[in-house]
Amino acid sequence: MDSKNNIHALKAGLPGNVTLIAVSKTQPVERIHEIYKLGHLSFGENKAQELMRKYEDLPKDIQWHMIGHLQTNKVKYIAPFVWLIHSVDSLKLLLEINKQGERFSRVIPVLLQLHIASEETKFGLSQAEAEDLIGNPVIPTLRHIQIKGLMGMATNTTDEQKIRKEFCGLRLFFEKLKQTSTISQVVMEVLSMGMSNDYRIALEEGSTMVRIGSAIFGGRTA
Ligand SMILES: *Cc1c(COP(=O)(O)O)cnc(C)c1O
Repeated sequence: MDSKNNIHALKAGLPGNVTLIAVSKTQPVERIHEIYKLGHLSFGENKAQELMRKYEDLPKDIQWHMIGHLQTNKVKYIAPFVWLIHSVDSLKLLLEINKQGERFSRVIPVLLQLHIASEETKFGLSQAEAEDLIGNPVIPTLRHIQIKGLMGMATNTTDEQKIRKEFCGLRLFFEKLKQTSTISQVVMEVLSMGMSNDYRIALEEGSTMVRIGSAIFGGRTA
């Protein structure tokens, strides 16, 4: 499979306001560099240490997205350079990101990950938990994070209606938060939803950021 042709075709089919994240987890740096050379800068990884190693080995203008579950004790590896963390699912994690942001004198942009799928195994907050987190009185005091939107993964199913419903629910919640948030730490701009198998539905339901791995790089062995 030719990843260069794949990314060209994908980009040609995306609306102008939508960011394509090339999900490069498990791919060697050589394959990432091929895509980088085409002028593509947004890449996503799901493991903190793998992300750090790739950051070190690749050009420094790459915009790295952390899309996988992040343990508090691993935030320090990616805090100096990460472009956007998609997977914040607790106040504890947010506080650690803020602390590491302070240490490196930067504001770290994050998304809250919402649990929208029916599978038990997927991480993320319920809508009530996300509202509690955003409404926590500590949030306005955090000067080194900014909550820029939401991320969600739909159920892994061939039932399009089910996927559509899950994405639609996330978008409605995103819009509700956008209208009600009044603090500078919460600016709802990014709606990260859609992977190789369901990004077309996600786009129809209002996604602004798609995370695509296998449709660019081919299947993963790991
Ligand atoms: C692996 C992964 C993707 C990309 O999945 P593909 O099916 O290969 O496109 C997107 N989002 C997250 C959170 C992932 O872990």
